[in-house]
Amino acid sequence: MTEAVTAPSSAAEHNPFIQMQRRFNIAADLLGLEKGLREILVTPSQEMTISIPVKLDNGQLRVFTGYRVQHSIARGPAKGGIRYSPDVNLDEVRALAAWMTWKCAVVNVPFGGGKGGVICDPRRMSIGEKERLTRRYTSGLLDLLGPERDVPAPDMNTGEREMAWIMDTYSLHRRSTCTAIVTGKPVGLGGSLGRTEATGLGVAFVVRESLKHVGLPATGCRVAIQGAGNVGSYAGLFLQEMGHRVVAISDMYGAILNSAGLDMPKVREWLKEHGRLEGFPGAEPISNAELLECECEVLIPAATEGQITSQNAERIQAKVIVEGANGPTTASADAILERRGVFVVPDILANAGGVTVSYFEWVQDRMGYFWDKQDVFDREERVLVEAFNSIAEAAQRYGTNARIGAYCVAMDRVAYCLKIRGIYA
Ligand code: GLU
Repeated sequence: MTEAVTAPSSAAEHNPFIQMQRRFNIAADLLGLEKGLREILVTPSQEMTISIPVKLDNGQLRVFTGYRVQHSIARGPAKGGIRYSPDVNLDEVRALAAWMTWKCAVVNVPFGGGKGGVICDPRRMSIGEKERLTRRYTSGLLDLLGPERDVPAPDMNTGEREMAWIMDTYSLHRRSTCTAIVTGKPVGLGGSLGRTEATGLGVAFVVRESLKHVGLPATGCRVAIQGAGNVGSYAGLFLQEMGHRVVAISDMYGAILNSAGLDMPKVREWLKEHGRLEGFPGAEPISNAELLECECEVLIPAATEGQITSQNAERIQAKVIVEGANGPTTASADAILERRGVFVVPDILANAGGVTVSYFEWVQDRMGYFWDKQDVFDREERVLVEAFNSIAEAAQRYGTNARIGAYCVAMDRVAYCLKIRGIYA
């Protein structure tokens, strides 16, 4: 056990940057990192807050707040998504940027870590308003962005449409088309085949490796998925194809359960048509809390941060948790799950399929030569299996869990680059 359980759940438990630092400190102790290096590694290298004035469809003006944090560029350009959500705040973006640094290092792609976010409610905005917001936000970030400096990607509530606007805005300012400025673009505009499915597929590969690791059967496991977005719904689809049973899935309005298994292609069709899971035929409505605690072998939190906490970790029934979302489990919950023998695959490995294929997209853009989908999937699989094995090996070597093992691998790789680059004075 790594720390005492705090009850009730504190404000610190819901601050993702504090949660990131807790894991960082445990790994830094194991690695024996010196104080100065720790400070450099944990401190974001650059942060930008911008005001984004947008003309709304009703003619009124509104100013939105946006952030871009570059946590580290020690291993390469800052890399990481942009999220649109009313809950965005600077500490969240900081944590997400740091997680990108560790994630890129875990899968050994030559990127640092960054993240962006805009405080807005995209559900209440028209496409035109979103386009104006995205373009103005991009123009505010022009001093930071660049294919060799900082490369955004989709995250919560952003997708290929927003990436196309970012690419276009940046290119118009640069006076030439630059596809490698952003990843997750539409195929046909420099996007990579397989990028849309990549995070969910990666989660499925990691589930497969985890089941092998803990000695659970390779087929027929019950899977519960929190979140039916790009990550959760594709993870469910691929896990069903691998022979597992998705027994529960949720969206922001609630969850559905069918212990005989939900048909994921039909669930995805239903979502596309109705915009929510509610009413899906043959399934029982349950609450989000019930989904997390339902009977299953595998739980995939693929929604948002702080979902598995000191308040519910004791009641989780899954044997394996594979984090499709960033930061879904708090540090206090880690300790409880570890004591209870639950195998947790951390976000920085579990959802790294997305950034891995973002890296492939960036490479293809810079080459101007594109691979077929199977090639992308095969390469992604190789990267994730290798990362899984190196994390399992590190966890064993340091006598710790998979999360801290992953932090150790990542921090060691970033620290190495910092040391050999040296400090410019
Ligand atoms: N937003 C995704 C993540 O959190 C993808 C980032 C990227 O592809 O750069 O990993």
